[in-house]
Amino acid sequence: MIEMRAQCVLCDQIDKIDSVSLLAKQLRKKRKISYLCEECSERITAKTIERKQSPHFKTYQTDEYDEYLR
Ligand SMILES: [Zn+2]
Repeated sequence: MIEMRAQCVLCDQIDKIDSVSLLAKQLRKKRKISYLCEECSERITAKTIERKQSPHFKTYQTDEYDEYLR
């Protein structure tokens, strides 16, 4: 298995993910998608729905994020 790294946009934890997984393919193709570790994604699932209805909703699409995918 070839691993690649993905950094969680919330807690900065770096996870190793299987490079042939669907997630890894998405990260390579669309670098704009944000990676969340399991812990954070569970934590924010409910809040995300609320935020999307708010005018202050902001997605995590920064240039910095790309550095971890090189
Ligand atoms: Zn996290």
